Amino acid sequence: MSADSTPTNPAKETSNPAVDGSELIRFDKVTKRFGSNTVLDGLDFSVASGKHVTLIGPSGSGKTTILRLLMTLMKPDEGTIKVNGDYLTHEQKNGKLVPAGEKHTREVRKNIGMVFQQFNLFPNMKVLRNIMEAPVHVLGLSKDEAEERARELLDLVGLGDRCDAYPTQLSGGQQQRVAIARALAMRPQVLLLDEVTSALDPELVAGVLDVLRDIAHSTDITMLCVTHEMNFARDISDQVLMFDSGRVIESGSPEKIFGEPDHERTREFLSAVL
Ligand code: ADP
Repeated sequence: MSADSTPTNPAKETSNPAVDGSELIRFDKVTKRFGSNTVLDGLDFSVASGKHVTLIGPSGSGKTTILRLLMTLMKPDEGTIKVNGDYLTHEQKNGKLVPAGEKHTREVRKNIGMVFQQFNLFPNMKVLRNIMEAPVHVLGLSKDEAEERARELLDLVGLGDRCDAYPTQLSGGQQQRVAIARALAMRPQVLLLDEVTSALDPELVAGVLDVLRDIAHSTDITMLCVTHEMNFARDISDQVLMFDSGRVIESGSPEKIFGEPDHERTREFLSAVL
């Protein structure tokens, strides 16, 4: 079964290409195996730009694999992935589609930012430099421009007063908010969120989710989110995809999936996690 989050008649709500409803991500018959374990099985789905799509489903159903494929941390065994109309996994050479080289992949991947479960900040750098590093070295921004951007983003995540702290001087929740600012500093078109609160102490979860809610509601960014936080998913999602064994078994609005799911498996899953 395939799921398609692209509206059948995508409304052109704005002239900004980042939110014009066009297809930003497309998986076409993507299969991923680890040995004899077929983790994704001919998966088709797409995400329209500006939308917030949440992947839910039991542990091991392939959700994180989708994000890792998009970050090119692994390659599909079959099928293609496109980002913003460009192949991520392949490139055209002499009129033929061939596996993408590193340079091509790097270019396409610039559109994608990811926040991981573990915050992965550079421990030897102050918060401000953690955020400035990639914009300076990858995008070629001047230090002044990168610093201005970093300060704005730290304000956005509520940490404008912690520019000079080292990561170890911050709580896990604060570190994750820095990691969110760091991902946004690259101005990606799509933000991938992989269970970003699951490594946090319970009392720190709400602060991180509030920041993400703000970003979802106040920016144009497309979000693809794996989470077990069902209330958060309900709040921010335009569409929820329910995975089971590497397939989308059901997809729809949060009202539909959380309120009146069609599939027995979805009902079982939700009653276990809600
Ligand atoms: P989810 O995010 O839904 O919990 P994952 O995408 O992390 O699921 O994993 C799906 C399946 O792929 C699991 O069975 C997992 O053990 C397997 N898997 C994921 N990454 C690897 C890997 N690098 N090597 C071998 N198996 C893996």
